[in-house]
Amino acid sequence: MMRSGKDKAPGRLVLCTGNPGKQAELKALLPDTVELLSLADVGLPSDLPETGSTLEANALQKARYAFERCGLPCVADDTGLEVEALDGAPGVYSARYAGEERDAALNMTKLLRALDGVADRRARFRTVLAFVDAHGERIFEGEVQGVITSAACGSAGFGYDPIFMPEGSALTFAEMGKAEKNAISHRGRAVARLLGFLERYFG
Ligand code: IMP
Repeated sequence: MMRSGKDKAPGRLVLCTGNPGKQAELKALLPDTVELLSLADVGLPSDLPETGSTLEANALQKARYAFERCGLPCVADDTGLEVEALDGAPGVYSARYAGEERDAALNMTKLLRALDGVADRRARFRTVLAFVDAHGERIFEGEVQGVITSAACGSAGFGYDPIFMPEGSALTFAEMGKAEKNAISHRGRAVARLLGFLERYFG
């Protein structure tokens, strides 16, 4: 059973990601009242092990790994792009879709080729956030529906942003400002759920 965090070091939270794009978005979405620490701040490497076969398993694995080594409340993000016509691929393998180098341009090229001539372009981004501390573990999810464009558009954001156009928008995530993406994104929605919990946790 998760207890209040009022008895712990006030408002310190380790963001368990080495991805600068994710880190920037999480920092913008989390309140100033929480002191955010990076993996480097607590002496951990930027690429934590993620060997699970689901987003949930990977997010929990990263948050547990960091918590076991630093003892501070930890939050980890695992995100996947699930494409309808590819039966949910690349999903949990989104980062390494085109190979171990985790190259965003190569990943997008591979995905555009896989969808060449495919009429059904529907896809969704799904983020799972795992929070781990001495008292337990919590999972928060967010998703956004959209389509994969026929070519990359825009230069903001990171990862697959230039080829993902969220439902109801005429712009890809990479053509939006940070706040505009965060307001509707998978990560923004997952963080909104985490925030409700953190408000009670940090008081
Ligand atoms: P992971 O959660 O770090 O494993 O990331 C999975 C893959 O999705 C990586 O290739 C990321 O660059 C990409 N990704 C994660 N979040 C986003 C996002 O908000 N927009 C676009 N791509 C993302």
